[in-house]
Amino acid sequence: MKNWAGNITWNPSEIAYPSSEEEIQQLVLKAANDRKKIRVIGTGHSFTALCQTENILVNLDKYQGLIAVDKEKVQATVKGGTKLNYLGDLLFKEGMAMENLGDIDVQSIAGTISTGTHGTGTKFGTISTQVIAIRFINGKGEIISCSETENPELFKAAQVSMGALGIITRITLQCIPLYKLSVEMKAAHLNDTLSNLQSHLDNNRNFEFFWLPYTNKVATKTSNIEATSEVDDISFFNYWSEYVLENYLFMGIAEFAKWFPSKTQAISKLTADLISDTKKIAYSHKIYATPRLVKFQEMEYNVPADAYQDVMQEVVKTVNTGKYNVHFPIENRWVKGDDIMMSPANGRDSAYIACHVYSNKDAGPYFKALEDIFRAYNGRPHWGKMNTLTPVAIADMYPEFSTFMKHRALQDPDLLFASPYMQRLLGVGNVV
Ligand SMILES: Cc1cc2nc3c(=O)[nH]c(=O)nc-3n(C[C@H](O)[C@H](O)[C@H](O)COP(=O)(O)OP(=O)(O)OC[C@H]3O[C@@H](n4cnc5c(N)ncnc54)[C@H](O)[C@@H]3O)c2cc1C
Repeated sequence: MKNWAGNITWNPSEIAYPSSEEEIQQLVLKAANDRKKIRVIGTGHSFTALCQTENILVNLDKYQGLIAVDKEKVQATVKGGTKLNYLGDLLFKEGMAMENLGDIDVQSIAGTISTGTHGTGTKFGTISTQVIAIRFINGKGEIISCSETENPELFKAAQVSMGALGIITRITLQCIPLYKLSVEMKAAHLNDTLSNLQSHLDNNRNFEFFWLPYTNKVATKTSNIEATSEVDDISFFNYWSEYVLENYLFMGIAEFAKWFPSKTQAISKLTADLISDTKKIAYSHKIYATPRLVKFQEMEYNVPADAYQDVMQEVVKTVNTGKYNVHFPIENRWVKGDDIMMSPANGRDSAYIACHVYSNKDAGPYFKALEDIFRAYNGRPHWGKMNTLTPVAIADMYPEFSTFMKHRALQDPDLLFASPYMQRLLGVGNVV
């Protein structure tokens, strides 16, 4: 087995493909009886070893779909293994949509919320904030339900839980009625973008930008509700920009940079010159995601929104020293604060800064240099992306860490879901 990026490999003794909640429960009971460990995999799009196990790996590909829909309340209950793109189509048929999404839509809904996956927009929390109820099978094989009103403290632990409490079987989402978005990409200058940041954030439903290292150039991306226009066919121009420019051409560039690192700065400048203005209109579930055909490694940190400008200035200064031969753009997004125990956005409106390197390049020194900056500003890593955290650091970062760990111990007292990576991350059991 390997994850999407290919940086984590493992060899489970068994892979199970249950197709019902009863089968999932039986799997857990048998594993508990046989004293074996379990990890669940969504689609393996995490860059960390969250899904790694030498024991039983549970794959929920056969456990997808809608369970119930409440059209009046615009709510939908879905199976944990449902992939986001399939979910988008299912909701569309019911006249509903998710209020926000991230860059890709191939992940499972349970994997998405378990790592605190997010999109961008100061009015929107992480995807976990769209969840209003969760049902899971805990380490004792019990079916547990929680929501804002039923076991509310446990619910706040389960909204972002990295598979530590059990296997999520059902998720109820608060959706919104169907909507169309107009998405625009534009070339701009870094200085102008940073100077006018607040107005970009206030005047657009969703705003993010990509900075091209060693240049003063950025690509801004805005999404706004489009009430009147028809949806676009994917035009040749958009196809060229998204598929060819952002992927195939970029793959060639990345390969070239690997063999000729001294040309990295020139490559980044060339990429900046290729940014073109594009616009397209589509129903929301068809427009948030862009194809990601070039494999990379990624680290992404959440920093308090009010520290963002200082953090970004340090990031730009560090990257521009030229020590790290980087040419992947740095992505900048914004997310509303929440009250979910292990959400990186817990207790604060946040900015997310993401850095990437080509899949088989050593990310170490570059990521470490930026991680030191993020940590100095109370940064918290995305749980699905690379980081060098220790349990001591996590306990410091998350005010409700001990309450989360109380629920972890209650739901999984025999550490059925605690792989060696999870034991090291959370500091439980005989740390291996
Ligand atoms: C190309 C790419 C683009 C990305 N873009 C974004 C982005 O825009 N925004 C963002 O925030 N992140 C992004 N990510 C990160 C990604 O969204 C997260 O890593 C997400 O968790 C992946 O979902 P998954 O289904 O692959 O989960 P996996 O990586 O398979 O699993 C993640 C965690 O969820 C747990 N899990 C999965 N299913 C269940 C279940 N049923 N019950 C309990 N636990 C479960 C796993 O055990 C694991 O701990 C991106 C990653 C890639 C590779």
